[in-house]
Amino acid sequence: MLANYHTHTIRCKHAVGSEREYIESAIEKGFKVLGFSDHVPQPYPEGFVSPIRMDMSELPDYTKTLCELRDEYKDKIEILIGYEVEYSRQYFEPLMKELNKYPLDYMILGQHHVPDEVSGRYVGFETKSEEELAEYVDFCIEGLETGLFLYLAHPDLIKYTGPNDIYLKHMERLVEAMLDLNIPAEVNMYGFSDGRNYPCDLFFSMASSKGVKFVIGCDAHSPDAIRQPEDIPGFTEFLSRNKVVYGDNLIFG
Ligand SMILES: [Zn+2]
Ligand SMILES: [Zn+2]
Repeated sequence: MLANYHTHTIRCKHAVGSEREYIESAIEKGFKVLGFSDHVPQPYPEGFVSPIRMDMSELPDYTKTLCELRDEYKDKIEILIGYEVEYSRQYFEPLMKELNKYPLDYMILGQHHVPDEVSGRYVGFETKSEEELAEYVDFCIEGLETGLFLYLAHPDLIKYTGPNDIYLKHMERLVEAMLDLNIPAEVNMYGFSDGRNYPCDLFFSMASSKGVKFVIGCDAHSPDAIRQPEDIPGFTEFLSRNKVVYGDNLIFG
């Protein structure tokens, strides 16, 4: 594939490597487009410090650094400036006000918490609650309906361990919304290589049967994680058995 839109940096406190190291790695692996989508800072209440994202005060430096590198590397690779954003009812509007003050090419939706990080729960924790599953799907749909997202990252992040028919009932709602809104679903390489619950066969076999579009995301938390699908043992088999078709991965613009 030629593009990856899911790249973190050391700024999010749980990744390693400078922006430059990710760019060098992408060039080496044959990418033509590299989108940075570090975890967006959030305008949380005074005193709440998120352990998984940069602070609001780092926005100017994040974007300035990427603008400079974009210019420096323009003959070798196209650099895009983005974020992985959580949608929340309380913080989304003030967040967009801040983000729009700086260069911004795109955002991907990564719904890690419901209803938000301050007052809610991490959706990657195991749950058998249909209510929590439904609420996760509702938040993803509400976020996508803003029309501001390029794609939905790890749509199957939620670790629901109840019955498959209940899981599919709600995840089908999500896929139908993505079809209506013409938004692709990401197959997350980081989750796969890390042995997480996502990406899962149940979701992706259903999603491909419904005709949703796919994009592959490295979700790189280290420069060496900027990789091609065939670099990850078992990943292309996962894609083919779930009929996930992908091409050059160029979806932007
Ligand atoms: Zn994520
Ligand atoms: Zn990510």
